This record gives sequence, C-alpha cells and structure tokens, in this order.
Amino acid sequence: MAMLETNTSVSDEQKMLVKTVREITEKEFKPKAAELTDTGEFPFENMKVLGELGLLGISIPEEYGGSEGTVMDAVLILEEIAKGCYITAMAVLGEIGVQSKAIVAYGSEAIKQKYLPSIAKGQTTLAICITEPNTGSDAANMTTNAVDQGDHFVVNGVKTMISRADVADLFLMFTRFEGTPGHKGIGCILIDKGTPGLHIKQGFKTMGGEYLWEVVLEDCIVLKENLLVLEDGFKKLMTAFNTQRCLNASICLGLAEGAFNEALSYTKEREQFGQPIADFQGIQWMLSEMYVDIEASKALLYRAARNAGRGFPDKLEASIAKFHTNEMAIRVTNQALQLHGGYGYTKEYPVERMVRGARFGAIGGGTSQVQKNLIARELLKSKRVF
Ligand SMILES: Cc1cc2nc3c(=O)[nH]c(=O)nc-3n(C[C@H](O)[C@H](O)[C@H](O)COP(=O)(O)OP(=O)(O)OC[C@H]3O[C@@H](n4cnc5c(N)ncnc54)[C@H](O)[C@@H]3O)c2cc1C
Repeated sequence: MAMLETNTSVSDEQKMLVKTVREITEKEFKPKAAELTDTGEFPFENMKVLGELGLLGISIPEEYGGSEGTVMDAVLILEEIAKGCYITAMAVLGEIGVQSKAIVAYGSEAIKQKYLPSIAKGQTTLAICITEPNTGSDAANMTTNAVDQGDHFVVNGVKTMISRADVADLFLMFTRFEGTPGHKGIGCILIDKGTPGLHIKQGFKTMGGEYLWEVVLEDCIVLKENLLVLEDGFKKLMTAFNTQRCLNASICLGLAEGAFNEALSYTKEREQFGQPIADFQGIQWMLSEMYVDIEASKALLYRAARNAGRGFPDKLEASIAKFHTNEMAIRVTNQALQLHGGYGYTKEYPVERMVRGARFGAIGGGTSQVQKNLIARELLKSKRVF
C-alpha cells in the first residue's frame, strides 16, 4: 500500500534495503511461517539466507566483517521480516540486537576479534541471560553470582525464559560479582556453549511459537578474558538495552502492519448482506483506527531509531516507542482477527498467529508497566514538560 510505504524519514538506500528484505520475506520466510510457529524450531535455513546477504552483521562495524548499519536500518529489517514470519524476526533480533551492540561497545579487542566476524556471518547464535526465576522486572536483584578465582570466575545461578538457549553458541550472562548487592554488583560475562557447568534445561513452548529455556550454571568456570562488563556495569548494559527496546517494537510494528494488510484484503473480498464488508462504514472506521494507530507507533519508533544513529537509542524515546508499539500491536492484530470473523480464529489464515506473536512485545525486554515506570521517572525529573 503506497501510503504505508511512503515515509520521508527513510532514505533511498533504506528503501532499497526494505525492498530486498520484503522480497526475501515474501518468497522464502512467509510460506514457512505457519510450520515454524507450530514446531518452534530455530529457523536455521532462513538465517543462512540472511547471513549470506550480510544482513546479520548490520550492528557490527565493517572492520569486524559487519555492514555497520544504523539502528534505523535494524528496525526496518525486523519490521519487514515480522510482517511475514514472527519466528524468523525473533531469531534475527537475537543476532542484531543488544547482544551484538553490547559486544561492539564494551568488548575488549580480543573479544571483538574472536566473536564479531562469525556473528556477522550468522555463524554464531547468541543468547542473552538476564531473567531469573525470582527476578524478572526486578532484574537488578538477580542472584547469579561470579566469584573471582585469579585467572577465572566461578559462576553459579539459574536463568529462565531464555530465547535460543538450545541452539546458542555464545551466552551473554548477566551476573553479580562477588555478591555485591544491588545494580552496582552486576556485570556481564561471555560463556561459550559446551563450557563445563553450563546446562540447558527445561524448555517452555510459548504462545508465539518459539521455546524459552532454563539455563543453569553449576560451578561454571569462565576465563577472565571473557569478561564483557565488570561490576557496576548495569547502567552500561541497560543503555545498550535501549536498542532492544526499539527492535522489540519493530517486530510488533511489522506484525501489526502484516495483520493490517491481511485485514484490508479480506474485507475487500468478503461479502455479506450482498456487498464487500469493507463497504460498511463500521468496518471502514475500524480500518482507519488501525491505520492511525500503526502510523502513530511508527512515528515514535522511527524517531527513537533515527536519533540513535549507530549508537544507542535515548532511554525515554525508546521506552515511549516500545510501550506504544507493543500495546498498539495487541490492539491492531486483534482488530484484524475480528475483521476476519470466524475464519480469523482458525489456522487457515495468518492473523491468529500474528495475534499470538504480538503478545510477546509488552512482556519481553521490559513489560509495558516497567516502560511506564521509566517514562514517569523521566517526566518527574522535569519541572515542566510542555
Ligand atoms: C518471548 C519472550 C522472550 C524472552 N526472552 C528472554 C531472553 O532471551 N533473556 C532473558 O533474560 N529474558 C527473556 N524473557 C523474559 C522477560 O524479559 C521477562 O518475562 C520480563 O522481564 C518480565 O519478567 P517476569 O516474566 O518475571 O514478570 P514479572 O516481573 O514477575 O511481572 C509480572 C507482572 O507484574 C508487573 N510488574 C512487575 N513489577 C512492576 C512494577 N514495579 N510496577 C508495575 N507493575 C509491575 C509486570 O509488568 C507484569 O505484568 C523473554 C520473555 C518472553 C515473553
């Protein structure tokens, strides 16, 4: 639809990027999306295609084999993929999101040389481990702990709801150091798969289709050369996490747009009472509301992404974009399902899985309530906002 494609904040190069990703998504990813959602399998084949095109290195500098794109480029890539395949978009998020950005920003030269080139090619799958059974939103209270033993750390703890842990080659493990309490005690180490003491346990099948895993650390020995951010690094890590907030939102934006496209076609074709249902004013008003809701989110998200350049998005802009887009996607995908009537509730049409996928956004990467807390905290620092 021309109106959705026209956006003045997107450069000509970015329009080409969008066109490329749209074509692959339509041809390669969308036809397999229903099956991937059912099995929850990691989309290795799709990732290979994206890796060969260099798209998985978008957050990595050229000197390490990446294409050194902007946050906006990453947003556009995920938005397009999510229109066709939520599972693939989530897998790509794991590669081009906070994981790569944190390694680029905070890794030692040796770490960057060791890991970034293979991440850029899509040959190293990444997992990020923050959430624990008793600390989700309250991440700064995590209990996983690393003890300094000279040339290595010994790490113990349990992480839960970890995406891609079953297939990950490298784990960004958020941990406390030496039991130091509060956010000041938290940093991050890199753990290679197969490291003794690193165990991948129970998997939870999600309503979106993918699995989330429990990761257990039992006297896991990690060499100091794999230290990414030492204690008192939580602030740095959360700054990097603003990227994830924008990219999480871009998947929700794509899902909402994909569902809108489906609803638009369906309402023009489906006839009731002797006319296409799109001719009823009630249906037109729903389509208008959905479209405006999408455009509002898009403006907020593109602002946050554009202002980030190649760095990290602003905290307030990222939280505003994430909150609005996550909630918008829940509304819009549900409206799209409603416009399909009973067929929308069946697996014959893609909208039902778009509804399920869109539900992840307001939970993962900081819930909507947490975003509102962050937004309010920033607002309350000001004497006057407008
Ligand atoms: C699809 C998906 C993928 C994920 N992948 C990963 C991953 O790869 N790595 C990882 O570490 N984690 C991952 N997670 C976990 C995710 O980060 C957590 O689910 C999230 O941070 C919320 O934590 P929780 O589930 O423990 O909920 P809780 O923190 O227990 O929250 C429960 C409810 O209470 C609300 N709440 C909590 N605190 C407040 C407050 N102060 N004010 C108001 N309301 C509040 C929440 O908003 C929520 O509605 C993933 C989750 C999902 C759904």
